[in-house]
Amino acid sequence: MSGERPSKLAMPGRQSEGMAVSTTPETPSRVANHALLGVSAPSSAATTGPALALADWFVAHQRDLPWRAPAPGKRLDPPVREKAASYPEADPSRRDLPLPAGSGPVPRRDPYRTWISEIMLQQTQVSTVVDYFRRWMKRFPDVSALAAAAEQDVLEAWAGLGYYSRARNVLATARKVVGDHGGRFPWRREDLLELKGIGEYTAGAIASLSFNLPEPILDGNLVRVFSRLYGLDFLPDSKEGKAAYWELARTWVLAGDPAIVNEGLMELGALICAPRKPDCENCPLRLHCTAFATGSQEGFPPVRSRKDSEEVSGFAVAAFRAGTDGEEALVYTPRKGERLAGLLTFPLFQVPGLLALKVAWREAVPGLEEAVLRPRAKTITHSITHHRYRLGVVEAIMPDLGTSEGLPDGYAWMPSRELDRLLVSSLPRKIWRALR
Ligand code: SF4
Repeated sequence: MSGERPSKLAMPGRQSEGMAVSTTPETPSRVANHALLGVSAPSSAATTGPALALADWFVAHQRDLPWRAPAPGKRLDPPVREKAASYPEADPSRRDLPLPAGSGPVPRRDPYRTWISEIMLQQTQVSTVVDYFRRWMKRFPDVSALAAAAEQDVLEAWAGLGYYSRARNVLATARKVVGDHGGRFPWRREDLLELKGIGEYTAGAIASLSFNLPEPILDGNLVRVFSRLYGLDFLPDSKEGKAAYWELARTWVLAGDPAIVNEGLMELGALICAPRKPDCENCPLRLHCTAFATGSQEGFPPVRSRKDSEEVSGFAVAAFRAGTDGEEALVYTPRKGERLAGLLTFPLFQVPGLLALKVAWREAVPGLEEAVLRPRAKTITHSITHHRYRLGVVEAIMPDLGTSEGLPDGYAWMPSRELDRLLVSSLPRKIWRALR
């Protein structure tokens, strides 16, 4: 919030080694809290049986999705039930060996298509992405075509998917792949992580699904499956939870054909092991599943209770003025260390009441200190990770907001009609909806 320096919110990411679980898939038992730390994790060998069962199910039941097609001009290798013969580059013990120029695995699936689909699928339903993906591939069939495109064309093709920073990152990355890698997609995790917009999950997805390298992935679907399978009651976003789930992801991807294991786990989480009412009767892992054995499926993964989260109460201030091209709204981009850092929002103030708000407002936006602050909309409640926001919404009213100049750093007037596009965080979007 303006004028304060709360700690940065924890972000998901690859965690340190050393997680351990006290049980194997063959001997399900509920694992109590964090007592499992210090006991060894299930081995890849112990995971082979469940991984084979998963592969059989996936091969028979996977959805027909356009990004699952083989690379152009290539035949998709027949599905491999058992652990694939690894490329030497994939062997973790050989990671430090220098690779001769031009070497590297031949993709079994076009990495460009895997990459675009994974970026589009972030925060968007599969059913929506299918049509977007098909249209995109007609317009930009490969990474070179995308790299040569104008930004406006790329944004236009992305229109409706939201989060336009993803489209800009996609274009920047395509240009880097063409400029720095000769148009050939990198396959090593560390090289993929150098590309804009590619984080741990997407890097693992490209390396494993396209190059069949044993690189782990972890998303909400996999966390849910692992949590239920092993009876892990770590909070998914806790330090211990992230370490535990990433370690399981690493163990599983080494237990079978990497592409099939990773995509099979994703598909299982999407189709069978749903958040509510999982279809355990049709699950290939039910004989190995702790939650199924104990009838406690919906207790996993645990959710953060209200008392675990911090309440943030205060106000959002909405100020509008007539601009040269229609109405404009005052917006703020929080700095590093502030809540919602880097995400455009209405100015937010963590203060106890209207009197305190007036003082904070005057200090934060001196050019607008004469504004009258009037309650405008119902109190907004909203949860983001560990924070429960409870915000009054007030409007700053001045006879002539149009004459104000010299806004402090981070503040700006933006056309109101652009706010649907510019406000990407769920909290300011909710405030904006309440104001309209
Ligand atoms: S048996 Fe049920 S709870 Fe366990 S992994 Fe399968 S669908 Fe999920």
